[in-house]
Amino acid sequence: MSRRRQIYEGKAKVLFAGPEPGTLVQHFKDETTAFNNRKRGTITGKGVLNNRISEYLMLKLSDIGIPTHLVRRLNMREQLVRELEMIPLAVVVRNVAAGSLSARLGIPEGTQLPRSIIEYHFKKEGLDDPLVCEEHITAFGWASTRDLDEIVQISLRVNDFLTGLFLGLNIRLIDFKLEFGRLYTDDEMRIVIADEISPDSCRLWDAQTNEKLDKDRFREDLGRVEEGYQEVARRLGILPEGGPGDLPAPTTMQ
Ligand code: ADP
Ligand code: UDP
Repeated sequence: MSRRRQIYEGKAKVLFAGPEPGTLVQHFKDETTAFNNRKRGTITGKGVLNNRISEYLMLKLSDIGIPTHLVRRLNMREQLVRELEMIPLAVVVRNVAAGSLSARLGIPEGTQLPRSIIEYHFKKEGLDDPLVCEEHITAFGWASTRDLDEIVQISLRVNDFLTGLFLGLNIRLIDFKLEFGRLYTDDEMRIVIADEISPDSCRLWDAQTNEKLDKDRFREDLGRVEEGYQEVARRLGILPEGGPGDLPAPTTMQ
């Protein structure tokens, strides 16, 4: 019997208590949902690939001094992370119109935006992650003005860095979502990137053909969904040999 204590099960991941206080194990599932749970499915090997891709990108961010929750990858589907006091926001950075921005404002998908735009969505079960503004966030105490300044600075740095990294792989970073939490050390508090950065949370288009290589393949029934995730991992140089389909089922630590 597993002695691990499950803390939370979400749509794409399960969180377990980590081996040391203040840590969590983040387990990546193949299950996926879209349109606020109205569409569900399984993308074989997605958990393995997202675990690898998110590890890779977060390590690159750490290399340039951007703090993330990642401690280390543990196995195919799991990584050890620092437990954070989560800020209940999905912070979306957009470079090109797509998804809910296009739907809400009638700006055709693929339109280059005049500048990068940051949006906040309130993460709350049952409310379909509504768009909120700074006034809501500070008035309801989800984050302070100072937290938000830090969040914006980090988000723009991540955008610049990832845009360049992906362009080098012939991929356009259309938009992405970040989550943040607070990490308390002694008497200091830092805002740290949490959750994951993967084709589940980014829109990634081939720079030549505009082929979608992300979760939109699932959202829009484009087919070859697994291949999109694999292609991103392949271009990053981290596709597990033999492909994710060859890997064993999720492991549970004893
Ligand atoms: P959801 O909750 O939206 O269904 P997931 O299935 O991805 O999403 O679940 C992962 C959950 O873990 C999310 O609610 C996310 O906010 C939370 N989380 C991510 N990183 C951390 C962390 N370092 N500390 C605490 N919670 C985290
Ligand atoms: N996103 C995400 N989780 C969310 C909402 C959005 O990862 O709960 C990502 C999404 O994959 C895309 C970007 O944030 O890369 C912008 O998403 P959008 O607001 O267009 O929402 P959607 O099309 O998912 O409704």
